Amino acid sequence: MPEPPLVLTLALPTPLYRHFEYLAPLKLDIDERKALRPGVRLEVPFGKQTLVGVLLSISHKSTYPLHKLKPAHKVLDTTPIITGDVLALCQFAAEYYQHPLGDVMISALPQKLRTSDGTLPQTTYWQLTTEGKGLSANSLKRSPKQQSAWQALLTHSPISEPALSALNIDKPTLRQLHKKGLAESFQQTHSTCASTPATYTILKEPHRILNTEQQAAFDALTFNSFQCSLLEGITGSGKTEVYLHAIERVLHAGQQALVLVPEIGLTPQTVARFAARFGVPITQLHSSVAKGARLENWHAAQTGQARIIIGTRLAVFAPAPRLGIIIVDEEHDSSFKQQEGLRYNARDLAILRAKHNNIPVLMGSATPSLESLHNALSGRYQHLRITERAGSASTPTMQRIDMRKQTLHCGIAQASLDAIGATLARDEQVLVFINRRGFAPSYICQSCGWSAACKFCDARMTLHSKPRKLHCHHCGNQSQTPSQCPSCYNPTLTALGQGTERAEDVLQTSFKSYKVIRVDQDSMQRKNAMAALTTQLNEGKPCLLVGTQMLAKGHHFPNVTLVIIVDTDQGLMSGDFRGIERMGQLIVQVAGRAGREEKPGTVLIQSYRPEHPMLEKLVTENYHNFAQSLLLERQQSLMPPFSFMALLRAEAKHPDSARGLLTQAAQLACEIMPPSDNCRYLGPIPAFMERRNDRFRFQLQLQFSNRQVRAQLLKALILKIDKLPLSKRVRWSIDVDPQDMG
Ligand code: ADP
Ligand code: ZN
Ligand code: ZN
Repeated sequence: MPEPPLVLTLALPTPLYRHFEYLAPLKLDIDERKALRPGVRLEVPFGKQTLVGVLLSISHKSTYPLHKLKPAHKVLDTTPIITGDVLALCQFAAEYYQHPLGDVMISALPQKLRTSDGTLPQTTYWQLTTEGKGLSANSLKRSPKQQSAWQALLTHSPISEPALSALNIDKPTLRQLHKKGLAESFQQTHSTCASTPATYTILKEPHRILNTEQQAAFDALTFNSFQCSLLEGITGSGKTEVYLHAIERVLHAGQQALVLVPEIGLTPQTVARFAARFGVPITQLHSSVAKGARLENWHAAQTGQARIIIGTRLAVFAPAPRLGIIIVDEEHDSSFKQQEGLRYNARDLAILRAKHNNIPVLMGSATPSLESLHNALSGRYQHLRITERAGSASTPTMQRIDMRKQTLHCGIAQASLDAIGATLARDEQVLVFINRRGFAPSYICQSCGWSAACKFCDARMTLHSKPRKLHCHHCGNQSQTPSQCPSCYNPTLTALGQGTERAEDVLQTSFKSYKVIRVDQDSMQRKNAMAALTTQLNEGKPCLLVGTQMLAKGHHFPNVTLVIIVDTDQGLMSGDFRGIERMGQLIVQVAGRAGREEKPGTVLIQSYRPEHPMLEKLVTENYHNFAQSLLLERQQSLMPPFSFMALLRAEAKHPDSARGLLTQAAQLACEIMPPSDNCRYLGPIPAFMERRNDRFRFQLQLQFSNRQVRAQLLKALILKIDKLPLSKRVRWSIDVDPQDMG
């Protein structure tokens, strides 16, 4: 009897919130039939397009008449690509972030596997032929190399070339056995870690002896079940050393460690430290890995060959068959949240994955996010603290500079210049932090008040001097600087405010005999620029660093003893409810670059509002107390983490379309779930920057008392919005737990 047709349920990368059914490909050979398991990719027709989808399940039944289903084109993989915990993670992410599953799955894969020409790298395996197996034990003893190769193949067959080379068996020897008809090879996707794990020297250098606080933190970790810990340790307190000890433990158990870090390209030192400590294969997954190597790195994680996987947010989806721990370094960092497409937070998904795998997750930060701190204080996470710097370093002292009482030199106070001079004279290094690139944030006419604005955004153009041009930092638009005021023809236009380029000029003029190095997106474009900078700084010569938040991230510059924070008021006045939290984190992180070794550090904070109570708290007490006060405020105003938010965003060429869609959405929300203590809807309101890139942007803010209610409302709401005619003309998206309210 012929087998009834196979019905394949697939997840496809489309904006549609449903699965898709296809028939198995028409010509299916035995191997392809065997390969048809959940998690393999298939190429399928989709309207006029061809898409790559992931198989979810196989059955003989369909909700549609079978003759209406189209056959898939072909099976792309011999073994499943998305399996086990990653599949579960994708399913969770799709539900939680209200995003189509197919799109989640495809975005969890390396770029090369998202199309049908990408396949997993093949590995060569060797085994004995029947003749080889029948050989008597000492037949090859005249060639010891062949004898031992034969012996190895007799005991572990089939065995991969990398595994053979770990046993010191080389390819020429294998080819000789092949010539004699004793051995044969075949190609296969190396998909599991079934082959005996190679043995490595786990520790390349001795680990450091932990100090009392570090040891207490380490001792509190458990390794055989799920446990979520927040390691709150001041900058330079040796959190990384605790991670290294935890990883060492996991490696000894034969498991893999996944380490998530913010923008890795900026902190080559972290990777170098891991590589210096451990002799096991380490793989990196992030955007500065060369395109060609990305698939290989991913594959090394998938096969279990890579024992440590270090990567940015996307790495939370990395396959790792023997995962033993997940570490999230600088858990507060906003780069863990993806701001487009699937708007996930890798930190939150890391916790979920650890829970699913029943393994520990360790998150660390000197400046924990209020969300994590709240969970730690309320006992949901284990709260570990390190309050002193490791080694001989002491914590830097923070002082405020009242800008109202200062002579200013393009935004830099005289008191700051004096301190810089004294520091350089002691042969030490200075870091000047200014969170704006370019020369000046506005270019204005002082006689009529005209200012250079972007044609496409509600934003001013930033003046850049190297080369001289106006840039919009929001849409990328660039233009020449006008030679006179376009409105009153005044020939002299003025640069107002300061960016890194201007600070660089001012400092170079004031400190002629010292090197001034600018560190921002524009100056650091070259590959390895950050690594080169680190090397230069570690030579220890006195110099000045001027830069943006690129400088705030995890660097270890031993000779920097003075940090100047040029502008704190932007953060204090921010309209975003997370503005002050971010400002506090940034100040403490930048400050943390000072005095990391024997020499003590000083931090000068310039402000026009030095008496601001939160700034006062941060400077005279510490981040922890500052964060606790902020938590109290959030509790009183019922803002996250004391409520659960989602943002429905809409943008369109015409403001009425975007606003109109959200007005309809708000009505639908009220019908599905009338506003109450459990749910509140605010809007539509214009985004902070109403017009960007020639589109008008609006948002509807949705706030809930718990996650279940939120999920319920969003699910129903999306289905209804999808049916609105306006939704086809307006670009709209849902952001669950939004980080950026703009
Ligand atoms: P964090 O990750 O908290 O910023 P690090 O782990 O980078 O801190 O440690 C800061 C410095 O202190 C590094 O130079 C590190 O080598 C050193 N250090 C960390 N732990 C110890 C220790 N137990 N004994 C001596 N030095 C240590
Ligand atoms: Zn003018
Ligand atoms: Zn613009």
